[in-house]
Formats: sequence, structure tokens, C-alpha cells
Amino acid sequence: MAHSYDDQNIFAKILRGDIPNDTVLETEHTLAFRDIQPQAPLHVLVIPKGPYVCFDHFAQEASDAEIVDYVRAVGEVCRMEGLEEDGWRLISNAGAHGVQEVPHLHVHVLAGRRLGRMLQ
Ligand code: IMP
Repeated sequence: MAHSYDDQNIFAKILRGDIPNDTVLETEHTLAFRDIQPQAPLHVLVIPKGPYVCFDHFAQEASDAEIVDYVRAVGEVCRMEGLEEDGWRLISNAGAHGVQEVPHLHVHVLAGRRLGRMLQ
């Protein structure tokens, strides 16, 4: 995966405050907000504030503090939204084969209904 970061991507604009978002959680290194085109009753995107394209890039270049903050924030979103009982799904698309539209690392948190099986 190419790791050159395009600072004109839409999540970079959200992080700069250039376009609005529906924030669920903000921490020192992480922002979680509702997806503009939800694919489930609960659809939240969790992004690191740093300029990382995908998980591989993040794992290689982010500090331990950023990584811990990010992983904890994903868990916190699940707790805050009350998903423990019925569950959730995490997805992170990367690159062309992953059909990643926005080239800034994000995890989709999907929940609120029984989701179709994707991996058989
Ligand atoms: P990807 O295909 O994994 O890159 O997903 C990108 C996601 O970003 C899609 O689910 C879009 O609906 C979502 N999205 C694009 N623009 C915005 C926005 O301005 N606010 C919130 N979500 C967005």
C-alpha cells in the first residue's frame, strides 16, 4: 500500500473543522463521528487524528500513545452506544481491493440489526 497522505481527503477536512461532522467521541488522538450514509441503524466511523492512510501505515508510524488511544476509543464507542448485549461489526477498508473511498484510516462500527454474513 502506498502511504502518501492526501491532506485534501474529506476526513482531513473534518479534522481541520472545514466541514461539519456529527461527533460521537473525541479524545486526544481520535475522533468518532456518524457516517453520513449509514449502512446500519448504528454506523460510526472512528479515525485517528494523525495523517495515516490505512492500518498498516498507522501500525508502522503512529506512536504507542496514538495506537492505545485509538483502540480504546473504538471500544468506548461500542460501550457508549450500548452495543455490548447485541454486538457489532468492525470493518476497515484499505486500498483498491478493499474499496477504500476515503484515504484516511477509519474503522466502521456497524450495529443495531443482525448484519448479513460477509465472510464464509
Ligand atoms: P470507505 O469506503 O471505507 O472509505 O468509507 C468511507 C465512508 O465515509 C462511507 O461510508 C461514507 O458514507 C463516509 N463519509 C463520506 N463523507 C462523509 C462525511 O462527510 N461525514 C461522514 N461520513 C462520510
